[in-house]
Amino acid sequence: MIYLDYSATTFVEEEVLKEMEPYFSIIYGNPTAKFYKLATDAYDAVELARKRVSKLIKCDSSEVIFNSGATEGNNTAIKSAYELAAGKCRIITTRIEHSSIIEPCKYLESKGAEIKYLDVNESGLIDLKELETLINKDISLVALAWVNNEIGIIQKIDKISELCFNNNVPLLIDATQTIGKIDIDIRKLKGITFLTFSAHKIGGPKGVGVLYKKKNVDMVPLIHGGGQENSNRAGTSNVPGIVGCGKACELVLLNFVSNNTKLKNMTDKFVDVLKEKFKNSIEINNDLSASIPGIVNVRFIGINNEVLLHSISKQIAASTGSSCSNLKPSHVLTAIGLDSKAVSESIRFSLSWHTTEDDIDNFKKL
Ligand code: PMP
Repeated sequence: MIYLDYSATTFVEEEVLKEMEPYFSIIYGNPTAKFYKLATDAYDAVELARKRVSKLIKCDSSEVIFNSGATEGNNTAIKSAYELAAGKCRIITTRIEHSSIIEPCKYLESKGAEIKYLDVNESGLIDLKELETLINKDISLVALAWVNNEIGIIQKIDKISELCFNNNVPLLIDATQTIGKIDIDIRKLKGITFLTFSAHKIGGPKGVGVLYKKKNVDMVPLIHGGGQENSNRAGTSNVPGIVGCGKACELVLLNFVSNNTKLKNMTDKFVDVLKEKFKNSIEINNDLSASIPGIVNVRFIGINNEVLLHSISKQIAASTGSSCSNLKPSHVLTAIGLDSKAVSESIRFSLSWHTTEDDIDNFKKL
């Protein structure tokens, strides 16, 4: 089987798994227990992971909050904005966000928040001029993904960050599809208040991730309880998961250039094969010139995407878009101008630096 669904999830890297293993049943102490080595070793492992994350995104390690992943991070930042706004919550987001941003926004809308969903152009880019006209100090939060999970479009985060910084508006960046693929330098992006990602997109385990929170920024925790994660996220730390998350971050930083060169080469090759093999019977939905390598969204003209995915499922693993919203027609493709027929004929292939020439040759031969 050729796995082409790396944007849905990745396997856990061998080195990551190896580093996690002792924390299941050998170094099993609770890191906040303090008084004995089993606990302090677990604590040290969590702090090492925190350092590794901070090195990757270039922030202070005290700004790294471990949690269950990007869904939780997005919910935390969005719902905190609502709480802090005390009845006057105004959020700006976009029409193409992942459900973990759209759904909390819709939920808050039902509770009286004003949510502005920015339109995007046919590539998926927001209009910065529109954002500039809408933004003012009364906006509680701007929330969007740096890279879209279905079409890979890369938003102009430097400009968005600058606008938010100049207007003193908190900015949440969902970096789930960005991490390991774009050099994230929080020090240079002063407007970013929150940044989220999940470890399982970069060779780490599922159910663990990071919420970066800028120093001295107020945030109401989503989960109340013990004082873990500097009282920002209660609950006994998922030590093996956090260790795996940290190691995965260390590895993507170490292999950044080679990984991304390979990913770009494999993506170019895959697109060439698609065009050669399917000619006029496909259309590439995403603007490859403005997208992250690795995500190729393709319409197979006249063929229902679910029927196609089922029929090829023994040979190819791919998806109709976000694996979190597989049951609904893609709001992302609709927002970039595809009609409902085109949407229902579209498939997202997503590659990794682990995708091989053989994978693509085998795809060609199918
Ligand atoms: N945001 C984006 C852009 C994603 O691609 C995903 C995962 N598909 C998430 C958030 C949610 O990640 P998780 O399910 O790990 O919480």
